[in-house]
Amino acid sequence: MKRFLTLGECMVELAPAGDQLYRRGFAGDTFNTAYYARRLLPQDWAVGYCTVAGQDAVSDDMLDLMRGHGIETRSIRQVADRTLGLYMIQLKDGERSFSYWRGQSAAKLLADDPDWLRAQLDGADVAQFSGISLAILPPEGREAFCEALSRARANGTHVAFDTNLRPQLWEDEATMRAGLRMGAEVSDTVLPSFDEEQGLFGDTAPAETIARYRDCGAKTIAVKDGAGTLTVWDHGEGTQEFQPVKIDPVIDTTAAGDSFGAGFLAGLAMERGIAEAAHLAMAVAAQVVQARGALVDLDMTDIEGAA
Ligand code: ADP
Repeated sequence: MKRFLTLGECMVELAPAGDQLYRRGFAGDTFNTAYYARRLLPQDWAVGYCTVAGQDAVSDDMLDLMRGHGIETRSIRQVADRTLGLYMIQLKDGERSFSYWRGQSAAKLLADDPDWLRAQLDGADVAQFSGISLAILPPEGREAFCEALSRARANGTHVAFDTNLRPQLWEDEATMRAGLRMGAEVSDTVLPSFDEEQGLFGDTAPAETIARYRDCGAKTIAVKDGAGTLTVWDHGEGTQEFQPVKIDPVIDTTAAGDSFGAGFLAGLAMERGIAEAAHLAMAVAAQVVQARGALVDLDMTDIEGAA
């Protein structure tokens, strides 16, 4: 059995359901990627999620939901004295705003037990993490986390990094820049978003984003740009450009990047080559932006046709 593992934080989501009522859900970028990878990979692949949760009812419910989606939960460590982070979506005059309670979130302990973390990564064929997985950790946790990924990579795991910048989660901009480099240095594949790289590093073209992550040692870099050109560099094939499917209207871009990452990495995992992986990724993301919410029920016939 091959294994695709994503690592990070999944939070409780409270979304407005009218009349001061809130609907409880679970959401997290790396969890979204696991959800889509499970749909795209054949059954000889296990897809697992690695995080730390509490031992309380809400944590158990999250594990049940994941298992319900076919995601393995044996890499989720449950600790007694913490619980899940939580965020609430508020709607005011049609605009969404977010409030977070994640200071004591159990996921911050993801790298506190390096032996446990190494054991989860042992034998993983693909390990995916994000800028959020790094940002929530304390500085020494980030080092331990990257050390474990680097060791896994040396043992043959394909390590993939979705940069997902969240400036408010990092101590400051310099630390975020250093953190991104640290993440890229332990990764085979990096999946940055051009607008974020432009904002943080002043890139004027995707080629500059690619050059920076190539210098960190990445072998494949896919620079996303929303509806704009997707630019992919691969150490074997050089640079290729792809145009995302035209979508009108776009309903909700939540999880566009997370589902894109799942498609791209699943394509590579199935050894389909860069162009097919890119088309698979764009086809998945195209469906996701045409539906509400992060976890969309994919039409697989349409996706297989595109890839
Ligand atoms: P991220 O959420 O990581 O910043 P993007 O917004 O660039 O990522 O979106 C990831 C992918 O989703 C794009 O490469 C594209 O394939 C698809 N996508 C996102 N927005 C649109 C859109 N408006 N029209 C068509 N495709 C889109």
